[in-house]
Amino acid sequence: MKVEKDTVVSVEYRLTVSENIVDESDGEPLLYLHGHGNIIVGLENALTGLHVGDEKNVVVNPEDGYGLFDEEAIQTIPVASFEDELEVGGHYTGENEDGEAVSFTVLEIEGDDALVDFNHPLAGDTLEFWVKVVGIRNPTDAELKHGHAHAKAVIQA
Ligand SMILES: [Zn+2]
Repeated sequence: MKVEKDTVVSVEYRLTVSENIVDESDGEPLLYLHGHGNIIVGLENALTGLHVGDEKNVVVNPEDGYGLFDEEAIQTIPVASFEDELEVGGHYTGENEDGEAVSFTVLEIEGDDALVDFNHPLAGDTLEFWVKVVGIRNPTDAELKHGHAHAKAVIQA
């Protein structure tokens, strides 16, 4: 088998940004359904066509990673509108007025206002991945229907 749309793929990976390791699978492979946008698009595209055992170094531009840094995503918001007690440098998740999940970092607190950054922490960063395909299998009916992989099922090459 090779990695293609509608295969469930397990990969070992290491993510490096500016020579710092930001994230790695560390023996617990990432399991995902290929071709459904469940992982960042630049990495998904690079994995297409690989076989079990294949390794690859992939450089992903911000546009195909966590997006460009958006100055307008830095906003001043009254402290009173947050449920949590905010700390400068803290990273929080919550919901916006439309009920959508948002995450943000608190940059500054001045009086009644907080300066908040809604950019992804890796927005604007070039992502350098090392990946190794460790398993490919067919999806279950439920996985296909849901559009994502389930659990860490038995992996077959
Ligand atoms: Zn599901």
